[in-house]
Amino acid sequence: MTATSVDLASLLPDEHRRLLVGGQWREASGAATFEVIDPADGSVLASVADASVDDARAALDAAVAAQADWAATAPRERSEILRQAFELINDRADDLALLMSLEMGKTFTEAKGEVTYGNEFFRWFSEEAVRIRGSWLQNPAGGTRLLTLKKPVGPCLFVTPWNFPLAMGTRKIGPAVAAGCTMVVKPASQTPLTMLALGAIMSEAGLPDGVLNIVPTTHDADISKALQADDRLRKVSFTGSTAVGRLLVKQSADQLQRVSMELGGNAPFLVFADADVDAAVDGAMAAKMRNIGEACTAANRFLVHADVAEEFSTKLADRMAALTVGRGQDDGVDVGPLINPDAVESVGNLVDAAVAGGARVLTGGSAPDDAGLQSGYFFSPTVLVDVPAEAEINGQEIFGPVAPIATFTEEHDAVRRANDTEYGLVAYVYTRDLGRTIRMAESLDYGMVAINSGLISNAAAPFGGVKASGFGREGGFEGIEEYLETTYVALPAG
Ligand code: NAD
Repeated sequence: MTATSVDLASLLPDEHRRLLVGGQWREASGAATFEVIDPADGSVLASVADASVDDARAALDAAVAAQADWAATAPRERSEILRQAFELINDRADDLALLMSLEMGKTFTEAKGEVTYGNEFFRWFSEEAVRIRGSWLQNPAGGTRLLTLKKPVGPCLFVTPWNFPLAMGTRKIGPAVAAGCTMVVKPASQTPLTMLALGAIMSEAGLPDGVLNIVPTTHDADISKALQADDRLRKVSFTGSTAVGRLLVKQSADQLQRVSMELGGNAPFLVFADADVDAAVDGAMAAKMRNIGEACTAANRFLVHADVAEEFSTKLADRMAALTVGRGQDDGVDVGPLINPDAVESVGNLVDAAVAGGARVLTGGSAPDDAGLQSGYFFSPTVLVDVPAEAEINGQEIFGPVAPIATFTEEHDAVRRANDTEYGLVAYVYTRDLGRTIRMAESLDYGMVAINSGLISNAAAPFGGVKASGFGREGGFEGIEEYLETTYVALPAG
């Protein structure tokens, strides 16, 4: 398949490649547009309206205008809209997955997986919308009654990354809709198409005009600065790099906006000597290769007990070498392209530096030679062993299909090395020892710990990190709290 053999207009009509503001699909000021690139061959996939700062202000105006009525809707009404969107997304899962695969590069099968996962946030929060509740307490000293009410935070700005174009949106839009907040969404400029398709679905599901506004743009820095300077914006939720997260937190200071930050990761993957090694290899494949390694949850450093290191490394290298690299929409492809040429260069530099420091390549190590892949942004699945502790690849997110393996002999040393990072999103542990499982859950400085599993994300669980991986939780019972304020009312005893 080539991108040109796909009828893009049937996936996303021209009129939806614009800004969604107050329920209208509008051109950007001056009819400005930018191009979305197909990472499998570098060709132009589509042109999309490029919002200016004025356009973004108009989107915030629309969100502010819609806020009061939206907050006053019955919870059941908000719940039913999310449920209807969930059904529509299920019906159109193939189209959404194809669109996402084209703009982001991941395989169609993986993109379908993201549709299922991302859509679960709509189902979960459709169920949470009707369970928002406060409390009633008798003053411990007697007399007054202490009542708490929950109210929506108000208009929100959502900034989302390119790696999960649908799920990173639904994780924010779902709880915001459930809570009664309105929003302006700024999708990543590499992958705006899926978010625009989602916007059309939300309107079709009955979401009132102005509740969800979408502003694709290449002027991200100017827009966040302008909107965050506006005291009508009450909340910012961001998923992306730690560097940009820090900037948005600083920008939130003047108006004291509430903030949720889902930032970078540097996940350790620990394999103890008592682990089921075959299960650990299965888990490693999932934790490393999901989304071509371009996931904040991707296993970034493998720490394997010396007694099982050779078996684990050999088996993992065999599995990685057997993967087929190619265009994500083609049958039989396991690994799609990275997002852009910079990503290929950055992954290659990390691998080269590790090798120069003494690491050995068991498989991969560079971009594939295959003549048919030269115009795309591909990198071969790679396994490195004997990676020195000080190698740069251990300290920063790889965001590519590379598994660096180092060994340990003592549990306390494995924990020390696992925690030796500014990040704290997720850690993976393979062991069959119950006591060790408990020690790991308690001693690893991470927001999430996966035991004997390479997949952790679940709409019913609180996703999020600590330290430089950010704060706030998406999903679970905690997720809706990010969009609610508490009002305490002191009542007389009667
Ligand atoms: P990025 O921070 O460069 O971009 C993320 C988004 O921020 C994009 O929409 C981008 O346009 C926008 N942006 C950049 N500068 C901005 C500014 N000054 N103001 C407003 N918006 C701005 O990150 P990326 O390269 O797109 O995504 C990869 C990063 O995201 C990785 O670090 C990854 O770990 C992280 N991530 C985290 C999670 C999580 O839940 N913790 C999930 C997915 C990705």
